[in-house]
Amino acid sequence: MPTLVLFGGGGDLALRMLLPSLYFLEHDDLLPEGLTVIAAARSEDSRDAYLASVREWVQPRAEADGQWSAKAFDRLSKRIDYLAMDATDPDSLTALRDRAGTEDLTYFLAVSPSLYAPIVNALKAIGMTGAMTRIVLEKPVGRDLKTFREIDQAVAAAFTEDRVFRIDHYLGKETVQNLMALRFANVIFEPLWNNLSIDHVQITVGETTGVGDRWPYYDEYGALRDMLQNHMLQLLCLVAMEPPSDMDPDSVRNEKVKVLRSLRPITKAAAKKVTVRGQYTPGSVENQPVKGYEQERGQASDTDTFVALRADIDNWRWAGVPFFMRTGKRMPDKRTEIVIQFKPVPHSIFDGDGRGDIVANRMVIALQPDEDVSLSVMNKAPGLDAKMRLQPIRMSLSWGMEGKSGRPPRRRIAYERLLLDALNGDSTLFVRRDEAEKAWEWVDGVSAAWRAAEMKPEPMRREPGGRRAPSI
Ligand code: NAP
Repeated sequence: MPTLVLFGGGGDLALRMLLPSLYFLEHDDLLPEGLTVIAAARSEDSRDAYLASVREWVQPRAEADGQWSAKAFDRLSKRIDYLAMDATDPDSLTALRDRAGTEDLTYFLAVSPSLYAPIVNALKAIGMTGAMTRIVLEKPVGRDLKTFREIDQAVAAAFTEDRVFRIDHYLGKETVQNLMALRFANVIFEPLWNNLSIDHVQITVGETTGVGDRWPYYDEYGALRDMLQNHMLQLLCLVAMEPPSDMDPDSVRNEKVKVLRSLRPITKAAAKKVTVRGQYTPGSVENQPVKGYEQERGQASDTDTFVALRADIDNWRWAGVPFFMRTGKRMPDKRTEIVIQFKPVPHSIFDGDGRGDIVANRMVIALQPDEDVSLSVMNKAPGLDAKMRLQPIRMSLSWGMEGKSGRPPRRRIAYERLLLDALNGDSTLFVRRDEAEKAWEWVDGVSAAWRAAEMKPEPMRREPGGRRAPSI
């Protein structure tokens, strides 16, 4: 019978995302038959105490979605066990082996990345990494190519690559998968999806909150390593990749790797022209004073909390099309979106002055706060004006995401899709080793260019009417 072992089962990620995801999958009868979930953490909690804290997290979330069912929670509870252990210690892990056996096991490492190698080594030492086991790793795996490889070597010594599932939870979002459907299940976009028709692409991940007490983690990473290396480069790959030959995991990931290989390295000479580093300073949000990053950190820091850059993809399809990426903490809006900006019409027949009021077409793939895909097209404004008036209208391309009732279906947690896929052994939406390596290699190049060009983060103040994010 399949077993999911949640290392770090009492942590923030597990309680806020993974257990609610398991609940919704249970509610919808999607969990594999006979699945057992073993949560493992250091705290000496009883199973009952653990289940009580799981319920505290799950129930309000399910109620907010109108999906709370005590019966479904009861079914989930029956699957769950809790084991207190130090997962880096083989002796301590034997209780898990006694409980779960050594086959049909999926390990989810919801613990600090510094524990990945010690836990894998301990599992291997007690014979729990056989051919019928899989491992799911949360980002970040490493903080650069070197540390990625160090962790990866330990993982590869215990698990073959087809049994390693590196999560990037953006890939679990419905809209991100819809992007593949739009591109490759329609004829109308792909002929335009190139440098003849597309002017530029923007990928934005803006967060309104600061780093707060997460600085011990954040200070080692910064915006470039925390967001751009993984989520944003994954989005770039899905926009830019060639059509895969099929939906086989390796066919899709082969195409993503080709995009990463075509990214133009950012050199010292280019760094000041094509990148911006920023760090938020004290300011105010909704008339309340807020601390700057260094005040949260308690001392001076060169960590970037904002990064914007222009990426160029040196291949036939994208030559000359900039991909602008920007991400930051304490931004004016919480928003994650991809904008595909098409070129203007070559000539306007409507007003004799060239392009007149014609707004170039634009596709917006919104991931947060709401998921949506829309396309803006020009239309005739209704009326009997002597001269035809034009107006842009926005067409939603996510109607197909409505449920049978005509109402939009519940927005699924990205981890629901990914947990299910990992349990079923489908790695299409997970990051392969060579993808992660290429992404780190490119991002390490950006860091090296910053160092060589002596680029420190620019101070960015957040207040009403204050300076907006610097742009390139
Ligand atoms: P967290 O809240 O600090 O939780 C860590 C968990 O690991 C706790 O349950 C802790 O148990 C357990 N643990 C620590 N050492 C252990 C050991 N030796 N043996 C067994 N269990 C041990 O961390 P988190 O925020 O959930 O993050 C977990 C991972 O997900 C990290 O890699 C993080 O970067 C990644 N991540 C988190 C988020 C998020 O939203 N939180 C988002 C993306 C990625 P005790 O508390 O009992 O000691």
